[in-house]
Amino acid sequence: MRTIACIVLCGSLMACSSSDPASPSGPSTAPNPSPSSPSPTPAPVPAPSSAAFALDLPVAAGDQANSAYGLWPFGVHGGGHALDGHPGWDVEFRPGASVLAAADGSVQNAIPEAGGSGRFTVRINHSVSGRVVYATDYTNLASLAAGIVAGAAVSRGQVIGQAGVQSQTIGTTPVTWGMTHFQMNDFSRNDGLTNPNAVSAEGFLSSSGRALFDSIWRSAAYQTEWCEPFFTNSRAATFPLARTWTLQSGTLAPILEVRCPSELSNEYAYSLLAADRSTIEAGTFVADPLKKPSTVDFRPASGGTRLGLWDVVSDSLQLNLATTGAPRPSSLAGAATFTTR
Ligand SMILES: [Zn+2]
Repeated sequence: MRTIACIVLCGSLMACSSSDPASPSGPSTAPNPSPSSPSPTPAPVPAPSSAAFALDLPVAAGDQANSAYGLWPFGVHGGGHALDGHPGWDVEFRPGASVLAAADGSVQNAIPEAGGSGRFTVRINHSVSGRVVYATDYTNLASLAAGIVAGAAVSRGQVIGQAGVQSQTIGTTPVTWGMTHFQMNDFSRNDGLTNPNAVSAEGFLSSSGRALFDSIWRSAAYQTEWCEPFFTNSRAATFPLARTWTLQSGTLAPILEVRCPSELSNEYAYSLLAADRSTIEAGTFVADPLKKPSTVDFRPASGGTRLGLWDVVSDSLQLNLATTGAPRPSSLAGAATFTTR
């Protein structure tokens, strides 16, 4: 189980540490060029707002996949992001699928990635009211589409390249998927971290982008989901992290506390608490997000193993946990439901 869980992190590591733009340059067009002859009454420049700009996803409906994680979200740690959090979304594609421009814009650069990987990164600048205030990045492209060169205009939904394929053996099963790291940069923001302008793309989604995102997100699963369950997690979080899940339905326990000791650990500590916060049961667990449905093995400090199934979608956890020594449940039917905030 530890090996399987590690592969999840390593998969993310391979996807991200080699592909995330380490220090993307700013927009090629200065956001506020100095006028050569200043007007005594300059026209006010409207502040950029997400309402004036909308993103689609870089994947076409039907080209998404979920052989690995589906969507590895913004802000989570692990996978080579121990200190700075993930600056974008790793979007999973079916192998061979195309990566699409998320909005109209112009190509700032389309360049081979460092390290001789043979993959490409594209940055597209996006203007609002004539100013470049946003840029989107697409890494790990196996090839570039014709015409995707610096300065080229691109339209929303235009093919810019092919998603690079990742392959790993998970347990004994070879798994192959396409992936691009998709990153939204807002030049009105600077969080001081690596990739300082990176923000969650969630607040910029178009209605169609939102609908597709929701369908992908429902099935996304990743290792740090127990402590970093949202798709807009804070990049600045530091470990150890603790998260409290509160029972909404079912009978497991009123409160589940989960503690993630580090972004690299595959083993978590837990406590099942009564309403008065007295401890009912405590121990450790390992979770495998890659199995469908995802499995979890609770190991109470009192001995034995409780086999379970789980699913986290944003702030909601379903957990179907057998009693000690009993077989693993076959489905999430009857699962306890928790929420967190
Ligand atoms: Zn990434």
